[in-house]
Amino acid sequence: MDESSENNSPTRDRVLRGITIDDNFRVICATTSELVRGAIATQGIDGETAQHFGNLMTGTVLIRQTMSPDYRVQSVMKGAGGRGTLVADSHPSGMTRGIVELPSDVDTFKIGQGSALQMMRSMAKGKMFRSVVEPPPGGTVAQGLMTYLQESEQIVSVIRTGVAWRNGELLHAGGFVVQLLPDAERGALMIMTERLEALPPADEFLAEIGGSAKRMLDELLYGIEYAQLDDQSVHHGCNCSRETVVGALATVSPDEIKKMLEEDEIIELSCDYCKTNYQLGHAQLSGMLESS
Ligand SMILES: [Zn+2]
Repeated sequence: MDESSENNSPTRDRVLRGITIDDNFRVICATTSELVRGAIATQGIDGETAQHFGNLMTGTVLIRQTMSPDYRVQSVMKGAGGRGTLVADSHPSGMTRGIVELPSDVDTFKIGQGSALQMMRSMAKGKMFRSVVEPPPGGTVAQGLMTYLQESEQIVSVIRTGVAWRNGELLHAGGFVVQLLPDAERGALMIMTERLEALPPADEFLAEIGGSAKRMLDELLYGIEYAQLDDQSVHHGCNCSRETVVGALATVSPDEIKKMLEEDEIIELSCDYCKTNYQLGHAQLSGMLESS
């Protein structure tokens, strides 16, 4: 891949927000098929790892939408017993990117004993807020995100995410958050609880509605009057630059950099998110060596 700036091409992936006219519920629906397909291809993964990664990417987009629109949200999911790490990073522009890191002796990411989900939210140049939750044993990414929403927000929330496959190809990805507003009526809560219990698993639901965020919103709020608040597009992309990739080299010891200089004239570094390659000449590396 060549050096590139952030990809802003329009996509069909959308996040819609609706609020019921009676002020009982807020609902956020996201379709992330292109975004997740792009991230999975870039990271070169499939199967269960791709499933968890897709859910984390979608869940991070959804969690960001529950917050102030200026927030950037990053999620880091640690696998069971050192079985890798998944990272998702969703920006206010809708640009979302991710990393899959698997140790060389691990071929599939698993959630289980020792798994933890770290959530970080920050505004540009602002303080970073961090919290860590443990998904329930044998749990899913969505259950980890649900635990986070319950512990961090005072609002009762349900979050579901899914990835639907056909013959090993990603068909749809997406999910939703339903939030109970503070003065919600008991009767309305019972209707919504029954409706959510009757829903098929998120991947089947996505296939039923043809991966459409609008249809998802209509289905979840069927028969309830609502106002659509927002319609944002989201996409897979990256905002890395030569500077950010070189910045990551700051953690490499001067001895290692010296070794790199002895071995090669030009060092190639690649962005962990988008795999773009950046070439660094002798002068740039020597400069770093002197300043460290
Ligand atoms: Zn990048």
